[in-house]
Amino acid sequence: MTRILAVTNQKGGVGKTTTAVNLAACLAHLGQRILLIDMDPQGNATTGSGVDKQRLDHTVYHLLLRQQPFARVCVPSGSGDFDVLPANRDLAGAEVELVQAEEREFRLRQALKTVMEQYDTILIDCPPALNLLTVNALTAAHAVIIPMQCEYFAIEGLADLVNTVKKIKARLNPGLSIDGVLRVMFDPRNTLAQHVSDQLKAHFGAKVFDTVVPRNVRLAEAPSHGLSALGYDRGSKGAQAYLRMARELMARRTS
Ligand code: ADP
Ligand code: MG
Repeated sequence: MTRILAVTNQKGGVGKTTTAVNLAACLAHLGQRILLIDMDPQGNATTGSGVDKQRLDHTVYHLLLRQQPFARVCVPSGSGDFDVLPANRDLAGAEVELVQAEEREFRLRQALKTVMEQYDTILIDCPPALNLLTVNALTAAHAVIIPMQCEYFAIEGLADLVNTVKKIKARLNPGLSIDGVLRVMFDPRNTLAQHVSDQLKAHFGAKVFDTVVPRNVRLAEAPSHGLSALGYDRGSKGAQAYLRMARELMARRTS
């Protein structure tokens, strides 16, 4: 069974794209058939996958507006290990154009219906907003993964996100669940981070993934080479953390 996971958090710069790209690469490395969907007009997941966002004939924009079929939009990642539905600035237009469209919340879900069986996992990188693009992602997904930094305001932001998930579940996608909260950019020497991490576990229990992704410069460097951390520096702490995270996700599915 295919599992569709939306990597989401309405805050920017919290590690969504890093998580989506590195999980795609690590799950592919572990033998899964992976599709990575870039739902952010910034196109960072596209670039980070080694796909040149300036030289695309078609993007996820054309898919959402039903101007092109999946096969004309889907491209291989630079490494060739997984497939990508790429995005660039065009996608910002979709947000506006879809407002008037019929079935506007269901466009992504419908586009994936006939192709999802080709993949074991589909990862969706969401924009840093609770807009129509994010709604499309959450309506298509089975579950969400929420990357978060263990900072003072993080838990407050999380409450908003949990409410959004509840609303989408009630109105558009009854099957949606929160797979988990992933602690990223973690610095164990920071006592506030430890404190917030403890609070998270108290609040979310088993929904907090065991894997913790540390702050690691290799994770920040890799995208400029169009590579995942695994492709850029396999032994790095960042690459190894996302590999553990990929294994944890796979173990959860079989248990
Ligand atoms: P988002 O997609 O939520 O906006 P990004 O994944 O783009 O966040 O991450 C924001 C910035 O932080 C990027 O420059 C990225 O390279 C960097 N970054 C993300 N995760 C880590 C990490 N674990 N260690 C160091 N830098 C990170
Ligand atoms: Mg991003």
